[in-house]
Amino acid sequence: MTTTVQSPAVAHHGLPAHEVVLLLETDPHRGLTEQDAAERRIRFGPNTLPAPKGAGLLIRILGQFNNPLIYVLLVSGVITAALGEYVDSGVIFGVVLVNALIGFVQESKAEAALEGLRSMVRTTATVVRDGRERIVPSDELVPGDLVRLEAGDKVPADLRLTRSAELHVNESALTGESLPAAKDEVVLPDSVPVADRRNMAYSGTLVTTGTGAGIVIATGAETELGEIHRLVGAAQTLATPLTKKLAGFSTILTVAILGLAAGTFAVGLARGQDAVETFTAAIALAVGAIPEGLPAAVTITLAIGVARMARRRAVIRRLPAVETLGSTTVICTDKTGTLTTNQMTVRTIWTPTGSYGTTGSGYTPDGIVSDESGAPAAPETDQALRWSLLAGAACNDAAMHHENDQWHVVGDPTEGALLVSAAKAGLGPERVAELLRREATIPFSSERRYMATLHDDLTASASGGQVVLAKGAVEQVLRLCGSQLDADGTTRSLDRAAVLRAADDLAAQGLRVIATAQRPVPGHHRLEADLFGEATLSTGLVLTGLQAMQDPPRSEAVSAVAACHTAGIAVKMITGDHATTATAIAGQVGLLDAKHSGDEGAVLTGTDLDALPTGEFPEAVDHATVFARVSPEQKLRLVAALQDRGHVVAMTGDGVNDAPALRQAGIGVAMGHSGTEVAKDAADMVLTDDDFATIEAAVEEGRGVFDNLTKFIAWTLPTNIGEGLVILSAVVFGATLPILPTQILWINMTTAVALGLMLAFEPKETGIMTRPPRAPDQALLTSALMLRILLVSALLVGGSWWLFDWELAHGATTAEARTAALNLFVAVMAFYLFSCRSLTRSAWRIGLFSNRWVILGVTVQAIGQLAITYLPAMNATFGTAPINADAWLRILAIAVAASLVVAADKRLRRPRR
Ligand code: ADP
Ligand code: MG
Repeated sequence: MTTTVQSPAVAHHGLPAHEVVLLLETDPHRGLTEQDAAERRIRFGPNTLPAPKGAGLLIRILGQFNNPLIYVLLVSGVITAALGEYVDSGVIFGVVLVNALIGFVQESKAEAALEGLRSMVRTTATVVRDGRERIVPSDELVPGDLVRLEAGDKVPADLRLTRSAELHVNESALTGESLPAAKDEVVLPDSVPVADRRNMAYSGTLVTTGTGAGIVIATGAETELGEIHRLVGAAQTLATPLTKKLAGFSTILTVAILGLAAGTFAVGLARGQDAVETFTAAIALAVGAIPEGLPAAVTITLAIGVARMARRRAVIRRLPAVETLGSTTVICTDKTGTLTTNQMTVRTIWTPTGSYGTTGSGYTPDGIVSDESGAPAAPETDQALRWSLLAGAACNDAAMHHENDQWHVVGDPTEGALLVSAAKAGLGPERVAELLRREATIPFSSERRYMATLHDDLTASASGGQVVLAKGAVEQVLRLCGSQLDADGTTRSLDRAAVLRAADDLAAQGLRVIATAQRPVPGHHRLEADLFGEATLSTGLVLTGLQAMQDPPRSEAVSAVAACHTAGIAVKMITGDHATTATAIAGQVGLLDAKHSGDEGAVLTGTDLDALPTGEFPEAVDHATVFARVSPEQKLRLVAALQDRGHVVAMTGDGVNDAPALRQAGIGVAMGHSGTEVAKDAADMVLTDDDFATIEAAVEEGRGVFDNLTKFIAWTLPTNIGEGLVILSAVVFGATLPILPTQILWINMTTAVALGLMLAFEPKETGIMTRPPRAPDQALLTSALMLRILLVSALLVGGSWWLFDWELAHGATTAEARTAALNLFVAVMAFYLFSCRSLTRSAWRIGLFSNRWVILGVTVQAIGQLAITYLPAMNATFGTAPINADAWLRILAIAVAASLVVAADKRLRRPRR
């Protein structure tokens, strides 16, 4: 191999396609050989972008100090040192360092976890190797590979196009231009800039319409995208609306608390207290009252939620989605593939003169097409049957493969089913290829709802003739038909009513109905392939039949729909399929019960939607459950209308045209298997199993995340309020501090990590899906919870003062009395931690040991308390002193009493059923 392959010096857009083929030593039709591809993969490496570098290590560590609270600490550390209080100053700096380190480690872990999720959703590419089309992960592409593109694909590498049909690519990722650029394969002057290279498709851009093919000229970091990536290196951001709100809240709080601290200092001085002591007390007040652990805890709780969702096969692409999921009020879901398995099998074939069944199941073409007596039907005896099967099989972009003793379909399952039904009647792909050769295509789209093809009729009798084939939604195909085919091959005028009746009967059984049509074109009237378009069809096709396929509902869908209903979440089905089919499936999965299926307005079609006056639109949409024959453009209107009604909407989508609706929805959900790359790109969440039940699981986890955030806040605030009040009261009353500033730093530093953070690991509570969704603007803390926080704060202040005074009165030294108060403070927080594990149920009910992280945390904290109480070095640093067993008994007794008060409060406030 020469070294010209992937040489950046070559301007591939300035060369004719065949020269690019030569240059890259590939084959324009058969692609590379597998062996060649494997060798090139070793030479060029995987087709991936290097991981984003993000900010440098030092910058990120320094970033941890960029916080008003830390400024306060640093300044006070310096002043304390200047005052000669070296121990205090050392502790303060130690706290700052430990805090930064913990923050840094936790943030890096959260970032790594989110980054890791990206690899769970792998992009794939359609590549031709050894003359065979295959779907491979995009990172396996090498220069020289022949890649096929179609609407919805993300261009997997930089390509020199060799073929294109109506190909349009959205290059905004590269050029910022949001209008799709038209593509073709003509040679361009070398000087044309990237944005205008019509014959190139660049990695990371999105195919919006049409199809094409091209040769990979650059992969990975060598692509244009790789170039940009090197320049900007965007990393995942950890910010969400909630974290931003909390950050803003912390700043305001810091300022307020600084004011309070300054006031305390002034009061102390006015009372003639020692300036240094008063100053450190003011610092302690500030440090103690600021909930510094909060932002980190929120990020970590969200990140743990993301990991839990991933385990349940919902991959979060944007962190704010975790928050939104918990307050979802409406889920708008696709039918095909999400509520159903997308394993289509044609069950009935209807023709104007007959009706046929099939045997066998799945994509295995073993089985027969049988007539009403059950005997195998020969397609030759009913020309309508023959042409219906041929239209199904030839007007078709899917392919069947036999691999490892199993039949697989590559492509659309609907088309797969049609290949199989034809094969069952002896019209397998090879036989069809002998009869018909495709000349031109009008591709299927969700708006058009049919597909048509122009073929050369290769049968001897045709003598140079052609045939037009079409298949699609019944109304659409009927629109193009003027007549119908009889068994003997003669045409008759169309009995539209009979066809519609037959289609409706089939749809009522929940079957997806596809109509087929054809039109022979005699040799002397040949159609130009270039001119084949919708206009050519309007001249009148001949209806050949209906094929009705079964797509069984997913078994998990029924219980997931029921769970959503219990949780107060409405589920709406949005489908391009027929209203009758959609209604039948909706009944099977429990979306519509028998009582409501007859309701006026429960089922709306796209036509109904268009006919609604603007004013009535939102209400009608809110009321309806099934939306059938809906176009992607209407999906956007649906989301907007539901949002108008105050809903938080989760919306699924898989096609290119679903992207706007996915972006508009609070939670855009894309399908990992069947979804297009464009949809995945626009989505907030990707389901790796395409299953509706996974959305429900994600909502459940989202609610759990919110619960855990609330629990953390409810746990952490009493420490801050308690500490602040203890210091404030001491200074105001001119009393000895019951807890020293350095001791307060110790409490804040250790309990937030060892105790509070463990709440992020709390499993979600049972019954989480039996309550209504949380309002998006609802405050994190209810008034009941606020009162409980104040209660615990009061217990902390009262308990520590009382114990401190009691110890002093009974002969303890100040250091010993402070140590007792410090330990009491921590003990109450540790006991309260168990209470916070559930917001409503008692600690006993959820099981004391059901979160092993909490047990671990309490153990670590206990060891820490023993250390600060008994280790001489720590005694010297923190001003503590060993205390005796009696003191511990008093501490435990007060902590237990405090917990009983909290438990009683919880019990009194428990919502009654
Ligand atoms: P959904 O995925 O919501 O079930 P689609 O938009 O895929 O709906 O399909 C809408 C209708 O278009 C189907 O009911 C069917 O009649 C028709 N259809 C679906 N797939 C094809 C296809 N590959 N070729 C022709 N017609 C199709
Ligand atoms: Mg579909």
